[in-house]
Amino acid sequence: MDCVFCKIVAGEIPCKKAYEDELVLAFYDIAPQAETHILIIPKEHTLSSAGQVTMEDAPLLAHIFGVAAELSQTLGFTGGYRLCTNVGEDAGQTVFHLHFHLLAGEKLGRMA
Ligand code: AMP
Repeated sequence: MDCVFCKIVAGEIPCKKAYEDELVLAFYDIAPQAETHILIIPKEHTLSSAGQVTMEDAPLLAHIFGVAAELSQTLGFTGGYRLCTNVGEDAGQTVFHLHFHLLAGEKLGRMA
């Protein structure tokens, strides 16, 4: 599959890793939209977006949210952070491999 995030997981495209375990990879966004902008992705490309999530994916989603919370503590985002995901082209999704944006490190503006 021609997927940029699968290539990052496979090590074919370099990334700046923030966190990794057997299920997920977190790395810095190449075009940051906040002081800190990290993407958290499942390593396995089974879901193209949150629009495909079913109840069976609950453990994976909880894991991703847990990784976001731990990363935020590790990186010292005491003021908070934004965790968001785009579903489909109208929302601006450009990579169709499920991912969550972790935005932090500054006072964030209101979402559109
Ligand atoms: P979305 O637009 O919600 O699908 O988010 C995709 C994100 O992936 C964008 O914020 C891009 O800047 C980011 N991105 C695309 N290619 C890379 C890459 N090679 N390394 C890091 N981030 C990337």
